[in-house]
Amino acid sequence: MSSIRRLGLYILLCIVLLLGQSEAALAFDINDVRFGNHDERTRMVFDLSQNTDFRIFALSDPYRLVIDLPSFSWRAGNVTYPPATKITALRHGNLKPGISRLVFDLNAPVGLEAAFILPAQRGAGKPDRLVIDYTPVSKAQFAAEKNKVLGKLDVDGTNSPSVTPDSSDSSYQSASSTYAPPPPRKNQKPLVVIDPGHGGVDPGAISSSNLREKNVVLALAKELKQQLLATGQYRVMLTREEDVFIKLSDRVKFARKHGADLFVSIHADSIEKKNVRGASFYTLSEKASDAQTAKLAARENRADLIAGIDLSVEDEQVANILVDLAMRDTTNQGKYFANQMVDAFNANGLKILPNAHRHAGFAVLKAPDIPSILVEAGFMSNNEEAAQLNSSSHRKNVARTLKRGIDAYFEQVKKNQRI
Ligand SMILES: [Zn+2]
Repeated sequence: MSSIRRLGLYILLCIVLLLGQSEAALAFDINDVRFGNHDERTRMVFDLSQNTDFRIFALSDPYRLVIDLPSFSWRAGNVTYPPATKITALRHGNLKPGISRLVFDLNAPVGLEAAFILPAQRGAGKPDRLVIDYTPVSKAQFAAEKNKVLGKLDVDGTNSPSVTPDSSDSSYQSASSTYAPPPPRKNQKPLVVIDPGHGGVDPGAISSSNLREKNVVLALAKELKQQLLATGQYRVMLTREEDVFIKLSDRVKFARKHGADLFVSIHADSIEKKNVRGASFYTLSEKASDAQTAKLAARENRADLIAGIDLSVEDEQVANILVDLAMRDTTNQGKYFANQMVDAFNANGLKILPNAHRHAGFAVLKAPDIPSILVEAGFMSNNEEAAQLNSSSHRKNVARTLKRGIDAYFEQVKKNQRI
């Protein structure tokens, strides 16, 4: 390569690096949040490191206040809420690339009155501020104002590789009442879609040492992807490669859109009994196999709610798919796959729960044409297991075992195809 060309490449590299940096610099800080109450009205004030667009709306079932902003760093520490604010909890995190979300849980309906930016008064030492005013309202008033959105941040126009729009995804639309077969399988390697649970504003289970399910399962999913790719036998895609939130229905849509042959959702559970540990495997059914599994499904299905998604406008297609006859065959394949996993974990000496294959109505397992299982790789509520899941050597071992189950499943698929 000539030195001039090398110089050109060097300059190009510098530009790429600089662009990357300027993008990172766009993220701003939320440095403080304060609440004031006047009569019935609550005023919420955020100190920002710079002026920004925003989008604010309220949701019901349960009542929540949702604030979308460009990606920010939270530097306001822990927040306490005066009772008059009606706020009971706060979550924040990435919603999608470039967009962060704050979700306030409320114990009563509120009406948004105003939201605006107060520009910085540098002389007076005052930063840019986001101000939000709201008041308690009746349920009827809340319902009447339900679609009120303040601010003009363009959230849906932001390109996101892993989130597909609700209405325009034609490959998914067909999944409702009339069953459409998946796109024809070309002569190519089977596609395994791995779905790391939770993400972004939804942390999933949190261990007592503050490990988060969303991070642990992403690391495990990436390890499994590597191991599967290394065999040269599979194509592999992750529903998320980073710490972003993805709606449950979008995870299913992602798998269907890409014509997945197998869908593996990875989680790490948490329960009150801290001594319980071991992996378990779940397939879809209308009726839960036991009360504990029903509760687990309810916990995992809460992800959208935690992230401030309006469940009342979520399409019911995914929810109603269970009645579809075409699903039976897929469910049987999923069950077979889950049993392969139980065998693989036993063979590799990894701890599993008694009756480790269970079933319930997990929203993320509702693709009608893709054998799907949900793996709870262990318990975040068990200190030892949470620490193990956080270690790369243990994750390698778990991934190796998951791979073994996947191998066994596809060996059987091949055998069946030969018949
Ligand atoms: Zn989970």
